[in-house]
Amino acid sequence: MNFISLLRKWYKINARSLPWRETSNPYNIWVSEIIFQQTRINQGHNYYLNFIKKFPDIKTLAEASEDEILQAWQGLGYYSRAHNLHFTAKYVSNDLNGVFPSSYSEIVQLKGIGKYTAAAIASISFDEKVPAIDGNAFRVYSRIFNSDRDISKASTFNYFFNLLKPMMPDDPGDFNQAVMDLGALICSPTNPKCGQCPVNTDCSAYKENTQNRLPVKTSSLKIKEEKLHYVYVTHSDQLLIKKRDHKSIWKGLYEFPEFENYFKKFEIIHTHLIKHKLSHKLLLITISEIRIKSEEFYNIARKTNAIILTKNELKNYAFPKPLKKFFIL
Ligand code: SF4
Repeated sequence: MNFISLLRKWYKINARSLPWRETSNPYNIWVSEIIFQQTRINQGHNYYLNFIKKFPDIKTLAEASEDEILQAWQGLGYYSRAHNLHFTAKYVSNDLNGVFPSSYSEIVQLKGIGKYTAAAIASISFDEKVPAIDGNAFRVYSRIFNSDRDISKASTFNYFFNLLKPMMPDDPGDFNQAVMDLGALICSPTNPKCGQCPVNTDCSAYKENTQNRLPVKTSSLKIKEEKLHYVYVTHSDQLLIKKRDHKSIWKGLYEFPEFENYFKKFEIIHTHLIKHKLSHKLLLITISEIRIKSEEFYNIARKTNAIILTKNELKNYAFPKPLKKFFIL
């Protein structure tokens, strides 16, 4: 297909200059791909640089504590991805002698690495001819091939993967990144800039004028509501926090104690209501503020197994975004 050579030519001149493109080290590519699964390039840029500065290689990441990693990840959300990065770093360091697997089929077995990320690493770091297909690539390919297959179905991923794999050029890493850049800069979800597109002469959707209807995606995620009720207990300049354990979200981050019956006897000074949207749920967070003057503060700390600290020390702990917003207000 002509679009492949057109796109490669365009990419040689127009590739975005991004820090993780200065290397083909699989560790850097892996970290960048995980960070940018959830974040726009301009938002994630500094996170990537700080993360790599703090954990420059897989061994450093493997040896870091959960708290250190969550602190570097703080604000990015999707904390299970940070836990998976840590798990896989330890696995590669300890079980694979620190050598990152070099083939798509091995990389895709690693915890927290899906088909898209495995293909990105295999093609960019090891020149394996596999297409990296994420939301951007789905959009570009659906349009170039004028396909109305539903991209929320696994069968559509397999269709495009098998269609593209034999077409992959000798520089598969650059080609996959060219598709990413085309999707980000020109073939945007709405109002694609078809007039300026380097592959418009080979784009079936453009010829048929169907580009604004593609890609087709039928499944819509049901957003569930979850209620959280915290108590912000203070005594002089001290307050209580707890480490969140196995619960559904934010594992390993810090939070305030949950509201229990025994807090009912105290006067609530303020009630703060915060709505926080995640990709799959809407969190309705209530924070009840209580000031305790008596020694009872220390009894509550013992009872709730909480950590006592001063407000100044809050910055040393990783908190979920909405709670952090609350205490820096
Ligand atoms: S011509 Fe338009 S629809 Fe086709 S790939 Fe380019 S930007 Fe996308």
